[in-house]
Amino acid sequence: MSNPVSHSIQAVRGMNDILPEQAGYWQWLEGCVQNVLTLYGYAEIRLPMVEKTELFLRTLGEVTDIVEKEMYTFADRNGDSLTLRPEGTAGCVRAAIENGLLHNQLQRLWYKGPMFRHERPQQGRYRQFYQIGVETFGMTGPDIDAELILITARLWRMLGVHDHLVLHLNSLGTSQARAAYRATLVAYFSAHVEQLDADSVRRLHTNPLRILDSKNPQMQALIAGAPQLLEYLDDESRAHFARLCAVLDATDVAYVVNPRLVRGLDYYGKTVFEWVTNSLGAQGTVCAGGRYDVLVEELGGKPTPAAGFAMGVERLVALLMDAGVAPPVTASHAYMVVAGEAAEQQAMVLAETVRDAIPHLQLTVNCGGGSFKSQFKKADRSGARYALLLGEDEMMRGEIGIKSLRATQRDGLVRDQSQQFIAQRDLVETLLKIIEE
Ligand code: ATP
Ligand code: MG
Repeated sequence: MSNPVSHSIQAVRGMNDILPEQAGYWQWLEGCVQNVLTLYGYAEIRLPMVEKTELFLRTLGEVTDIVEKEMYTFADRNGDSLTLRPEGTAGCVRAAIENGLLHNQLQRLWYKGPMFRHERPQQGRYRQFYQIGVETFGMTGPDIDAELILITARLWRMLGVHDHLVLHLNSLGTSQARAAYRATLVAYFSAHVEQLDADSVRRLHTNPLRILDSKNPQMQALIAGAPQLLEYLDDESRAHFARLCAVLDATDVAYVVNPRLVRGLDYYGKTVFEWVTNSLGAQGTVCAGGRYDVLVEELGGKPTPAAGFAMGVERLVALLMDAGVAPPVTASHAYMVVAGEAAEQQAMVLAETVRDAIPHLQLTVNCGGGSFKSQFKKADRSGARYALLLGEDEMMRGEIGIKSLRATQRDGLVRDQSQQFIAQRDLVETLLKIIEE
């Protein structure tokens, strides 16, 4: 019987289906983020998932993980090199410049959607993953850095995961300060070159700061002994950082200054931060961001200060589940059980009538027939509070049955598990009464 040709096709490795049982978490999370951002005055921007490869080559830095080995790059039919976006900041800056959003304007923008990186798939690390990103333009001071962090802190409180997250904070200083530090760091690691792993040897002269970010346990002692960037900071960056910390202190946001926090991308300077949890194993960073004052100019715009962050939706959903936080459940109102051909048509007519009259009504009509028993089972499984019953008898009498499926009705009209029959023309009025309870 089995046909060797018709084997089933599987999803691409590292690219996940988000099934309905998880979608509730996603919707709740996305809804909360959108609410908070709207309240703080941020506007959504929707960006393409594909950009010219050049955009990422120019912005991310040649010796970053993403550009070295993670980009999904392909030739378009006319030969243009295109890339599935590995992150959102570059595209957002490109769009802001291209559409003139930055001329003497302050911008607070956010976006969400899938990002693509050819990484080794594992828990919390996928090849298609979702980010919600926030970018601000035109604001130089630590006030906006603080606002970005306060937004995330408020979000964690709303979601009930604030106890699971620690804020790591650092300043990368200006590019001059980083250059001076870089020389010191290269000297330090060069003196211990026999303790470096292959990745770090490679980075020693290309991107030595990234060695600090190594997750290799064998490297941790060496890294702990390395000179610290904060000691090399220029005065302006030092003052900026101090003012940011003062706002966080005054608003009761706890943080740890982590001198090894460098972020993977080249465009960051001054403030960088990450929210990290212990609950998710090695992939514990759920949100990361910082200031990138040089990027707009690098992409051909007028010099414009900027700061932003991105959160990883899969990791946040995993954290919600791990923390036992569930989205609020809203039971559906009613499930309509239908028997007989005549009833099938009338069910549709009645359902549309009550949907017109009660726009927020959550009503599922049984489709595809089935015995009363199997339909009631479906009604139960649907989580609906009431079953509406339309069979041949009800059709003949112009009535419809209502049965409570949950044991918590305060309303006098419908008792637990009992069944009532009402005239079909009274259905709207009756439903209104019982669903408002
Ligand atoms: P990591 O150090 O974990 O690789 P990153 O520095 O590469 O993270 P960013 O580019 O800062 O990550 O992206 C911001 C957030 O997006 C991360 O903190 C994480 O929550 C999420 N993220 C990044 N890469 C992935 C991935 N491959 N799969 C799932 N989530 C990811
Ligand atoms: Mg990464």
